[in-house]
Amino acid sequence: MSKQVFTQVIRGAHEWVSQAEEGLEKAIAQYGPDQPIGWGNQTSYCLPMSFALMGLEVKKLGDLQPQVAHARELLRPIPTDDMWLPYLGHGLDAGAASMLATEAMVALRTCNGYQTPPGWQGFISDTIMRELGIQLVDGRMPGFALILGPAPTTEIAVRTVRDLQSRSILTFLCANREGHTAREQMVEGGVFKEDAPLQECWDLYVVPVGPDSIDSIYVLNWSIRSALTFGNHKRGQSRACLDYTKARIHAFGITFGEIPDDWYSLGAGAILMGYPVVSDSDTTPEIRPTGVTIREEIVVQTDAEQIVPTCIDTRAVKVKIEKIDIPVGYAAAFEGERVRKDDMHVQFGYKYSSAVEYVHMVDGDKVKDNDIQVEGPDIDSIEEGGALPLAIEVLVAGRKMQTDFEGILERQIHRWLSNAMGFMHTGQRDQIWCRISKKAFAAGMRLEHLGTILYAKLHDEYGGIVDKVAVRISTVPESVDAKVKEAVEAFHLRDDRIADMTDESVDTFYSCTICQSYAPDHVCVITPQRLGLCGAYNWLDGRANFEINPTGPNQPIAKGRTIDHVLGEWEGVNKFVYQFSNHKVERFCAYSLLEAPMTSCGCFECIVAILPLANGVMVVNREYSGLTPCGMTFGDLASVTGGGAQTPGFVGVGRLYLSSPKFLSADGGAKRLVWMPKSLLEDVRERLQKEAERIGEPDLLEKIATEEDASTEEEVAEHLAKVGHPATGLEMMIS
Ligand code: SF4
Repeated sequence: MSKQVFTQVIRGAHEWVSQAEEGLEKAIAQYGPDQPIGWGNQTSYCLPMSFALMGLEVKKLGDLQPQVAHARELLRPIPTDDMWLPYLGHGLDAGAASMLATEAMVALRTCNGYQTPPGWQGFISDTIMRELGIQLVDGRMPGFALILGPAPTTEIAVRTVRDLQSRSILTFLCANREGHTAREQMVEGGVFKEDAPLQECWDLYVVPVGPDSIDSIYVLNWSIRSALTFGNHKRGQSRACLDYTKARIHAFGITFGEIPDDWYSLGAGAILMGYPVVSDSDTTPEIRPTGVTIREEIVVQTDAEQIVPTCIDTRAVKVKIEKIDIPVGYAAAFEGERVRKDDMHVQFGYKYSSAVEYVHMVDGDKVKDNDIQVEGPDIDSIEEGGALPLAIEVLVAGRKMQTDFEGILERQIHRWLSNAMGFMHTGQRDQIWCRISKKAFAAGMRLEHLGTILYAKLHDEYGGIVDKVAVRISTVPESVDAKVKEAVEAFHLRDDRIADMTDESVDTFYSCTICQSYAPDHVCVITPQRLGLCGAYNWLDGRANFEINPTGPNQPIAKGRTIDHVLGEWEGVNKFVYQFSNHKVERFCAYSLLEAPMTSCGCFECIVAILPLANGVMVVNREYSGLTPCGMTFGDLASVTGGGAQTPGFVGVGRLYLSSPKFLSADGGAKRLVWMPKSLLEDVRERLQKEAERIGEPDLLEKIATEEDASTEEEVAEHLAKVGHPATGLEMMIS
């Protein structure tokens, strides 16, 4: 702990308590102990700070004596150079003493004719506390800031307040420096007019409370009332009230310039309530150990642009962005919207260009929140109906963020971007296909708006783990290709994490119902050995997402009694699938293509389809545009396989599943793989070779037909006979 800080805190508190004692003595001498004081019907909590912390009901001057006396009792001697090093507890006691003393002093104002200067709020009533407090407690208002003193310049003052406003954070202004106040700076900077009514200031979320440092007690005794009103704590339950404000009220202080003793002592009171202080002065010693506050107690930020982001990080404020500032409508209703070719202004990905979306974690000091950058030509530089490469890279920092969560956040990109009217998104990772409609383009939609959406939604839905979000969007071919390469390496690492787990080693699987927006009956059942069919969600992702968002789309599925271990059928899974498929799917067999297979939504990486004549299955991936041996393209097959239906003989899968020991294991497993595009075979070669060796068929990959060997079902059958493919020795799939 800093000796300097606590010396100043204790010195400031001594000053406040002496002033309170003196003021009280004079007032009693002048008006007598029975003189009523306080804020009348503006509050039911007498003097709220002493009511909450001491259980006192102060209504008359005489009632103030125990409050001031207790403030005195809390004080330790002011440290000197050769004296003991003050420690945190003494400093916090001095903070409590300062709050009790300053509250007593502002209460004395109510009997000595003091008038709050025009344009300043003064005491804040219970009515305001009820109206705004509930928003603070339930998170609709992310928090409040108390600014002490004027900023070094009007520009900095206005920027700071605007930064807070843009995050819906309520700002209180108090104190002065040589007579100058932040309120004057608001007027100079055009935030509000000199004669603006106070209601207008409340509406703007910028409230001048009082021109002196003592006036900050109005803010502190306003916020302690939330513990009594919303937390249901009783008067005198000081510990419970302080724990409540620390946990539920996301407040913080900002001080400009060197901090004088009186500010320090009130700041210690704020810290006692769990509210950290951010100072712009490099002479302020930082206090970083956590405990009294959720994160650090005093932090220095000398870069004016970073003051508010630092406050948000230090207080762990979860920012809510009410409105996503884009030129087209934004709602879940647009999620399933398709942009047809004729209505399209531009497209990205699929077979038209390289495209990737990639979320990864970075250190907090490597990223600026809301830093959205677009590199390369935007969509107004392309002819209508054209295609552009696209890399969407999202950098996320958060103290609770883990690399395990990257895939989960990334998979939400589909939903978040699809909610923009006129933006179509399918697929995931480096398999995306996006379109922007002519109407959306005409309305002003540009690439930076993708960043705007991702920034807002990440904070909105994953504020518990995300503190900062930056987005990099590129349409420069070389940069996109480099980003695809980097991302694919990261995707492989993610996929490898689950390699050693088996379905038997767990008693819980996870569901995924994200794709129900356009396939309402579809439920992905994700097991350790079978990832979601989009290829972006494995069992660990499901578990991690449930941890982050317990009411979200990934729910645990208790396997329950095994009905058939070969087919992969469990009682608990059947019940779950029945319930979450809107009672459309009664049975689910994890390991079969023919017997109650998984439903398919539409964003599968690959489709597996039976080839009866070849006694096996073919697999086609989304990128392959040619005809397959069953006479259909990927697109044709997708239209009969997708939509959330259970279609025996056809199923959508993630490509990683092709090399899983559980791949159609009830139907013969990898030995049934008889045809796939060459590019897909190369893509899965390494993992599939391991599986081929495990099943005793080390030459399997050389025996699988590709488009170079066969283009019809008959030709596949001939190829299999010629090379001695193991499928020829298996029992018939359809007899
Ligand atoms: S395909 Fe399955 S796992 Fe992937 S997002 Fe859709 S429901 Fe979830």
